[in-house]
Amino acid sequence: DTDFAARVGRIEPSATVAISNKASELEAEGVDVVDLSVGDIVDFDTPENVKQAGKDAMDAGHTGYTPSNGIPALKDAIVEKLHDDGLSQYGTENIVVTPGGKQGLFEVFQTLIDDGDEVALVDPAWVSYEAMVKLSDGSLTRVDTAQYDFQLEPALDDLAEAVSDDTEILVVNSPGNPHGAVYSDEALEGVRDIAVEHDVTVISDEIYKEITYDGVEATSIGTLEGMEDRTITLNGFSKAYAMTGWRLGYYAAPESVVDQAGKIHGHSVTCAVNFVQHAGVEALENTDEAVEEMRSAFEDRRDMLVDLFAEYGKDVPTPDGAFYIMLPVADTRVEGDGEEAQDVAWAEEAIEEAHVATVPGSAFGTPGWVRLAYANDEDRLREGVERLAEHDLL
Ligand code: PLP
Repeated sequence: DTDFAARVGRIEPSATVAISNKASELEAEGVDVVDLSVGDIVDFDTPENVKQAGKDAMDAGHTGYTPSNGIPALKDAIVEKLHDDGLSQYGTENIVVTPGGKQGLFEVFQTLIDDGDEVALVDPAWVSYEAMVKLSDGSLTRVDTAQYDFQLEPALDDLAEAVSDDTEILVVNSPGNPHGAVYSDEALEGVRDIAVEHDVTVISDEIYKEITYDGVEATSIGTLEGMEDRTITLNGFSKAYAMTGWRLGYYAAPESVVDQAGKIHGHSVTCAVNFVQHAGVEALENTDEAVEEMRSAFEDRRDMLVDLFAEYGKDVPTPDGAFYIMLPVADTRVEGDGEEAQDVAWAEEAIEEAHVATVPGSAFGTPGWVRLAYANDEDRLREGVERLAEHDLL
């Protein structure tokens, strides 16, 4: 028998895997599944000019290793973007370009978290934070915002109680996956005060920053006074530019963090793909229209879904950004079976009977809810909701 490392025993496969396996199985049997489970952009392709830049770079021979932390042109473009966002503390020496934002987060946790070090999460939280913390031997303290419609400000007292001098990192994700809330400046100032009091590093995961609605803008917490040197700003190209499969992201951090994390980066991935980095420059510099086209399509879909749920008597918190919506399911006819959380039972019924794939909220630390992704066209979204209604799941 293979003697597996304890660390892999501590984590579970991604919660979406079971659902998407089930969806694939059904599709193989010829069933038409409305897949609202994935965090991928289903009906927008990477902008043409970005694809062209990648092809041109490949043809020009940009196929070898690059400097480990990224090509200078991309680091320059990233720094310019960060400065536009008000994050003037970062220069090119603060940037590490990674194959996807996920790898960046992984490197940061591996760099800062040791045995038992505590990481504070605001729930519902993206599934991979927990797994990454466990892989770093860290422990978690979590604060739930579901009771406050996913707003952070009313949860600040709970957060102040959860965070202590043992806390090493606090993760802020605004707009957030899975809830789509954008945190107010007052909420972020509250987080700042807590972080400063306990000398905590804040990871600001800004991967959905470009996707916000109703003119709301997501403030970067690193712009707040007192946060300049304690914020690691994480971003990626997957969501804003429909580039999930290209695998490109970055983090901006104090130089001491870059020095240490750079060792893990160099020894694990060497660098991000060369011609993909060239495409990244084009994405940052010449995609305003394409980004706006996607953003406004997502906004229309969000409006449509909120209205449609209201028609069926479901009052859902209106997301300010990202492309996910949380649906409360605790008050439906579906009951949990034995140990199983009720939302997991609901999601199983939704996929098996209504053929609609969703992700149970317990995967994000928020049982009683499910997440629906709406990076899919309006007809499919409408079809999905109608099927849920037909099967008495709303
Ligand atoms: N952060 C959040 C909150 C996400 O939802 C995702 C992807 O789903 C990522 C980070 C990582 O994205 P990527 O590795 O594609 O850049």
